[in-house]
Amino acid sequence: RLFVVGSFVEAHCWFVAERPAADESQHANAYAREFGGKGLAVALGAHRLGVAVDLLIAAGEDAAGDALLALLLEEGVSSMHTHRLGQHSGRGCGLITAQGGTTVTVFAGANALLGGRELQLAEAALRSASVVYAQLEVPLALAQQVLRRARSTGALTVLNASPWPATALSGREESWAGLLAATCVLVLNQNEAVAALAELADRSEPEGGVTTLAALPPHVTDLVWRRWPGGQWLVITLGARGCVAYGADGSVVDVQGHLVDVRQPIGAGDAFSAGLCAALTAGEAMADALKLANACGALATSRDGILAALPRREEVLGLAAA
Ligand code: ADP
Repeated sequence: RLFVVGSFVEAHCWFVAERPAADESQHANAYAREFGGKGLAVALGAHRLGVAVDLLIAAGEDAAGDALLALLLEEGVSSMHTHRLGQHSGRGCGLITAQGGTTVTVFAGANALLGGRELQLAEAALRSASVVYAQLEVPLALAQQVLRRARSTGALTVLNASPWPATALSGREESWAGLLAATCVLVLNQNEAVAALAELADRSEPEGGVTTLAALPPHVTDLVWRRWPGGQWLVITLGARGCVAYGADGSVVDVQGHLVDVRQPIGAGDAFSAGLCAALTAGEAMADALKLANACGALATSRDGILAALPRREEVLGLAAA
């Protein structure tokens, strides 16, 4: 089974010609309300890929919270660990430009209130998981607790350190070190990878941009494994370029991106993580898991919607094998 701790967000997406400058007001060309959040999207994505999922998540006492429960019921995902906390569900605002660039801001709402009490109620589910996934739209302390307990039962832990908590982490090295110590597989997008590598590699910036992330020099990966002794895989998603994973044993898996027409890029990373977790839960090796993840990310990008874009198993297998 897969256990996911994560967020629920009601997202409002504005499609704009280009990003407004500071203090500028602009008309949007289109608008869509979407349900998402990095926890819900990954849990639902993995469920659609055929994996049994337990989801620890919070919503507010509002219409969005009601909609979450209805959606879980409709999709066949258990709402046993869905908690109604606080007044507001998480709310997101996304600006999507004609070029496919995205700018997102999220108000945590109920997500910030998820904590130890709710985790305790999910203890049995957590113990029965073989893969446990966390991201950082829930409190860092909770993510850390979940990953630690999962490690103590021998589960494979996957952390998507998104959104990158630069401000939350400054002066709180312990939280980051604690999170990492309980993480087996760390998933980062390009921006997060640059920030994390600066953090991990004793704050020495990796030279260069994407090309370097796709081929990190050994002195950088050596530093990473020294700072992250329990680490097994560092996975970096590279947008249209695909993804690359560095193993603690020195192996490198490089998966090229699929050529797709981009329709809605928000949530590509979650679709990717859903594919990765589903494959790892099914016992697949990292190289195969990355192929499925990469195909899920590409397919989701080529479709409208956030949750609607998450592919089902039969839709993605052909692309993953390509
Ligand atoms: P995030 O959405 O977290 O910023 P990325 O943009 O790196 O993450 O996308 C995650 C994954 O989704 C990529 O590794 C890739 O597999 C897929 N993907 C994203 N954008 C594209 C694209 N334009 N074409 C093909 N695949 C894409």
